[in-house]
Amino acid sequence: MKYRDEYRTADAARGYANAIARITTRPWTLMEVCGGQTNAIMRFGIDQLLPKEISLIHGPGCPVCVTPIDYIDKALDIAGTPGVILCTFGDMLRVPGTKSDLAAARAGGADVRVVYSPLEALAVARDHPGNEVVFFAVGFETTAPANAMTVYQADREGLVNFSVLVSQVLVPPAICALLDRPGNRIHGFLAAGHVCTITGYAEYEPIARQHRVPIVVTGFEPLDILEGVYRCIHQLERGESIVENQYSRAVRRPGNQLAQQVMESVFQIVPRHWRGMGEITASGLGVSPAYQTFDAEARFGAVISQDESQGECTSGAVLRGETRPDQCPAFGTRCTPEHPLGVTMVSEEGACAAYYRYRRQVRRPVE
Ligand code: SF4
Repeated sequence: MKYRDEYRTADAARGYANAIARITTRPWTLMEVCGGQTNAIMRFGIDQLLPKEISLIHGPGCPVCVTPIDYIDKALDIAGTPGVILCTFGDMLRVPGTKSDLAAARAGGADVRVVYSPLEALAVARDHPGNEVVFFAVGFETTAPANAMTVYQADREGLVNFSVLVSQVLVPPAICALLDRPGNRIHGFLAAGHVCTITGYAEYEPIARQHRVPIVVTGFEPLDILEGVYRCIHQLERGESIVENQYSRAVRRPGNQLAQQVMESVFQIVPRHWRGMGEITASGLGVSPAYQTFDAEARFGAVISQDESQGECTSGAVLRGETRPDQCPAFGTRCTPEHPLGVTMVSEEGACAAYYRYRRQVRRPVE
């Protein structure tokens, strides 16, 4: 398959692994930001191809995982309001709120519908003019343009029964917050290629400069990730800290400017609470004043922040890269995808789910 098979050849993977081993002279810790990359690393055993001096740690790049519990509770509140149809992506259904989750609310009679695109939620609003239709808009810069486009379209059509509950987050401020944490041990980042397809990577350049940390925009196939690691280690060994673009088949420095324009017209930058990381300044998107009539928080009341209690689950530390899923005492025993104790085991993109899916099986070599 074009653009897939050529990024999975075993000989090339071994070549990269050998090249990485040749240039590595001391321990380095790299963080891959995106849950999709974590899944690929686990699936193809990429971490096991690397020299023992290199540790890959997993970042907060799972959109479901970082959505704070306050927003799950608000979605539950809204779903429980008579006459409301709540539309959401399927992986939000089982994320636990304080007392329940959206799957249980649906089983209890709430009209919660799974959609595959925000535009489907708009169609639900058109088809049900007597109901309030709310779309639960979560995610990183990858989902924001389509969510913004949906609001823009609702406005053009004059739909009065549609709104969005927005928990959009932005990657660069989270990278800065991780680097500023006391005891930070991250030497370099593999930045998420699909996020940079939208945003470009100019915003990463001052971060690399100021924090003296290499950032390599990286794709999702095994050879992408191995090349991303190689470029990062190459910089670290030479004392460099710049942004490089490994994913040049999809990413350009300015990004997708049309997507950025629609995001900027519908959303504004706001402080945002991240599960496991607390509030990070200017790290989220909220509905801008011009489109406030489509803001579910304006219609149904503002989200109320609360303290996160995760019981024995350490997914906050997993999301910060401070611990690995298989270091959690509950991993694979009391906590499984069927009976998850925390959100990183619920979500397909969560690090705990990735470890459970691939690390409990016999390792597969790169195909
Ligand atoms: S294995 Fe389960 S309990 Fe442990 S950190 Fe992951 S989600 Fe939480």
